[in-house]
Amino acid sequence: MRTQVAIIGAGPAGLLLAHLLHRGGVDAVVIETRSQEYVAARIRAGILESSSVDLLTSAGLGDRIRREGHEHRGIYLQTPDGRHHLDFVDLTGRSVWVYGQTEVQKDLVAAGTAQVFYGAASVALHSLSSRPFVTFTDSSGSDQRLDADVIAGCDGSFGPSRSFFDSSVERVYPYSWLGILADVAPSTDELIYAWHPDGFALHSMRSDTVSRLYLQVPNGTDPAGWSDDRIWSALATRLGDGQDGWKLTPGPITDKSVLPMRSYVQTPMRRGRLFVAGDAAHIVPPTGAKGLNLAIADVALLSRALVALLVEGDSRRADSYSDDALRRVWRCTHFSWWMTTMLHASGDPFDEQLQLSQLRWVTSSAAGAAGLAENYAGLPIGF
Ligand SMILES: Cc1cc2nc3c(=O)[nH]c(=O)nc-3n(C[C@H](O)[C@H](O)[C@H](O)COP(=O)(O)OP(=O)(O)OC[C@H]3O[C@@H](n4cnc5c(N)ncnc54)[C@H](O)[C@@H]3O)c2cc1C
Repeated sequence: MRTQVAIIGAGPAGLLLAHLLHRGGVDAVVIETRSQEYVAARIRAGILESSSVDLLTSAGLGDRIRREGHEHRGIYLQTPDGRHHLDFVDLTGRSVWVYGQTEVQKDLVAAGTAQVFYGAASVALHSLSSRPFVTFTDSSGSDQRLDADVIAGCDGSFGPSRSFFDSSVERVYPYSWLGILADVAPSTDELIYAWHPDGFALHSMRSDTVSRLYLQVPNGTDPAGWSDDRIWSALATRLGDGQDGWKLTPGPITDKSVLPMRSYVQTPMRRGRLFVAGDAAHIVPPTGAKGLNLAIADVALLSRALVALLVEGDSRRADSYSDDALRRVWRCTHFSWWMTTMLHASGDPFDEQLQLSQLRWVTSSAAGAAGLAENYAGLPIGF
């Protein structure tokens, strides 16, 4: 087989890239190891920045977000002083949207613009410096070879693309998140980020009837050691149940998992004819809600670069893709690190006082609040 762009991975980065290339007149084929059902059902991110919503809307994928998503003006920060609302719209003129990654994935599949080989095995990348090609075994067991002008590595943090880069910097955080999905209406209209001496907690949501909540837990925690009652009790304590009449309503837990917290950035984001985007190039801890948004921003830049290269023969955007994408990647990596270290208990009394001082500044100074708001609601793609 032959195509212009061979895309490895049918997560949000891979499918959105295929969609944007299709709209730009570039032919692409996507190769994915998992089944379509498995990819569609993965519970992951849930917050879209306004620039992500604008990009998806301009690509014809915004209807359901605006119909079924929930626009939030800001977030709450829960500190020992009480609950503080940061209004991003007042502070920066930009909002965020609650819309699950599963829904973004469904919209991309429904668009029908990507030709995908699901259930591929033994996916291997070859000849990256000149005439690249990908070999794999398709779901019916036949060996395939796909020749392309360019390969786009959108295969997440465990895919084969990463092995072609030897320069990455990494930070492993000394805690994880225990995340739950619960069939219960959210107890809050906007997300609550809570600092607590027992550890961080987050009250997020997926819809009017489904809540998503997280607790800071030690690395290596086995979710089986946390009964539903223990989870709801810890969430109630950390999120401030009973303060100013606020109540956390528990409900049936439908999913329970532990998510380790780490950051890495791989540089450059290109090697020869291989370009990487999304989690294949970088990981951030989810505290700043940046992983999915960064994948969308990378792909916005990469699709423009590849359309210019393959349709107009102009290589300038492809040549600057890595530098252009990395500026935003490092801004979001810093913001994710900053939110994470400000909100998670480390057991160090010096750190604790720095965190509380920082939180007092963010919740009492317009300048402090605006910095958080600008980063959380998202800087423009290409920043
Ligand atoms: C477990 C988990 C939970 C998360 N939770 C949150 C959260 O709560 N909040 C938040 O903001 N962010 C969260 N994130 C981050 C966010 O979901 C990611 O940043 C986002 O999925 C990035 O999209 P992507 O397309 O780059 O990568 P992915 O979504 O990982 O997609 C990569 C795709 O490549 C495929 N692949 C892998 N190897 C191969 C191969 N050899 N050949 C072909 N295909 C391959 C994979 O099956 C996958 O479909 C979470 C991430 C993970 C892993």
